[in-house]
Amino acid sequence: MQQGSINVQTENIFPIIKKFLYSDHEIFLRELVSNAVDATQKLKTLKDVGEMKTDLSKLRVEVILDKEAGTLTIRDNGIGMTSEEVEKYINQIAFSGAEEFVQKYKDTDSKHAIIGHFGLGFYSAFMVASNVEIITRSQKPNSEAVRWMCDGSPNYTMEETIKKSKGTDIILHIAEDSKEFLEESRISGILNKYCKFMPVPIVFGKRTEMIDSPSGEKDEHGEIKKEKKEVDNQINNIEPAWTKKPADLNEDDYINFYRELYPATFEDPLFNIHLNVDYPFNLTGVLFFPKLKQNMEMQRNKIHLYSNQVFITDNVENIVPDFLTLLHGVIDSPDIPLNVSRSYLQEDGNVKKISAHITKKVGDKLGSMFTGDRADFEAKWDDIKVFIEYGMLTDDKFFDRALKFCMFKTVAGTYSTFEEMKERIKETQKDKSGKVVVLYASDKEAQHSRINKAHDRGYEVIVMEGPLAAHLISRLENHDSELQFKRVDADILDKLIERDEELPMLLTEDQQNTLKPIIEEVAGSEKFKVSFASMSTDESPFLITENEFMRRMKEQQLAGGGGFQMFGNLPDSYNLVVNANHPLVNELANSEDAAQKESIRQLTDLARLSHGILKGEELTTFVERTVAKMQHVK
Ligand code: ADP
Repeated sequence: MQQGSINVQTENIFPIIKKFLYSDHEIFLRELVSNAVDATQKLKTLKDVGEMKTDLSKLRVEVILDKEAGTLTIRDNGIGMTSEEVEKYINQIAFSGAEEFVQKYKDTDSKHAIIGHFGLGFYSAFMVASNVEIITRSQKPNSEAVRWMCDGSPNYTMEETIKKSKGTDIILHIAEDSKEFLEESRISGILNKYCKFMPVPIVFGKRTEMIDSPSGEKDEHGEIKKEKKEVDNQINNIEPAWTKKPADLNEDDYINFYRELYPATFEDPLFNIHLNVDYPFNLTGVLFFPKLKQNMEMQRNKIHLYSNQVFITDNVENIVPDFLTLLHGVIDSPDIPLNVSRSYLQEDGNVKKISAHITKKVGDKLGSMFTGDRADFEAKWDDIKVFIEYGMLTDDKFFDRALKFCMFKTVAGTYSTFEEMKERIKETQKDKSGKVVVLYASDKEAQHSRINKAHDRGYEVIVMEGPLAAHLISRLENHDSELQFKRVDADILDKLIERDEELPMLLTEDQQNTLKPIIEEVAGSEKFKVSFASMSTDESPFLITENEFMRRMKEQQLAGGGGFQMFGNLPDSYNLVVNANHPLVNELANSEDAAQKESIRQLTDLARLSHGILKGEELTTFVERTVAKMQHVK
């Protein structure tokens, strides 16, 4: 037996690694299975160049759990190693690789590293094993088998041994503190997570299948009898959809792949994008558009990142732009550096290119759906709109692309693009300063009366709803300075789209001056800014409007961002506009004190009711007062 000592500078690599990767010990299995897969792939490559004569269809990796012996074995029938190769690849490369890893990362904050970086490789076995044995026999002709043993310290033993088949067994003697890795469910969980789409069959344990009876005997229905049979339990699908050509796949294949990825999700995706680049970087993948739910956060981080069919992480933050994390699916790229800390990732040239490429592809796909089948695109719009708006707000390039297919929906339910909408309203809704005013509603029901009034004037009202609306509106106004967005209840109609002509006021200035303080007293001057306006008689006597600018700031503050945090919570900003031409207001000006206040109270409450801000105790009082009044009339 040969005993040796590995030449490393750091004696104590092992405890450092163990501590550093504390929460990620499970990746040892991914590393060892990946090595085993690589060993079989290398054999394939050699076969391609005519060096070996092995039956490639039998290539596989087996994971064997022996609870009694306390071992976990990773077995492959790949290329194997000669004793010289063990010396070189394990004693030297694997150990110095581990040492290099420690040197690089011992001072970094593990939270910011993509744990599960490649590069630690074989050595990660020592995170869970007190002893590791390698029994290997090379595929090279006349090779003797070798048995290597090590406890993680730089001391190892190596000897010749007997091994019938060619390939490698890595036998882990599981350490006392890692007994969880002797549980079948734990191991199958890890294999399902990391190895589900590896390119060579990964077998773990047995499962029962019903097969046709070999005797061919038939049952009473004339069908061949079935019998139970124990078969190898294969963990993985060796040819997942993203590794195939788009031309070889149909819609069902994609849907089935989606279900394979997310077995717990019942809703099918809306559509998919197949990524396939080989220059200037390697990237394959399939991204799915889910139907977005109210709670967007729940649907985030469903993209799985793979490197050559090995699962790396489902946290792609910093690798793709934020809005793309709402998509689901798989990205596979060996060009994304996996062993650097996350904060460096954003700066990485390849990551930037990949990110830009995916964004472009997503834009292309949406664009071609829009031009290809607009009706279908409109039907899907409500489900994808949040995603697109989010992208437009966070990515300027995407904004430019998406503006061509971003849909603006009228209250009546017709969809148009930004340009189509502008073209339609640019004459009818131009105000005296030359701005084209886009009228919108954030809530069709709540703003019903104002929408009606706008429609009566022949104006168009679009729907801008959801948490991103306020931000998107500002972005659009920035993009096109000719446009101004105003919510239908931001002002009286004549002020929303101001014209040159002004209606005369019925109420004299004197009457206004007497009436104003009384209205302020009854309605509460701290709640409302009272003003008089010359409006047509078919408008309400009292009307509440909400300053567009102030309301938008408040909404942006609530939605996050916008830089208003320093103001604390912004107050509501309501105007109580008195229609100086309404007969009731005229009557009011001439009535006695008590009756006057009573009417003001009633008209104010009606205006509040119509604006949706009469609630709670005040609403109760209003209802009771109104009922009492009706009884009184009787
Ligand atoms: P890496 O895989 O990143 O090169 P590892 O430390 O995981 O680093 O492995 C070091 C080397 O040991 C591998 O490059 C390979 O040559 C050899 N090796 C590891 N596992 C096997 C195996 N199952 N079969 C054949 N060779 C292996």
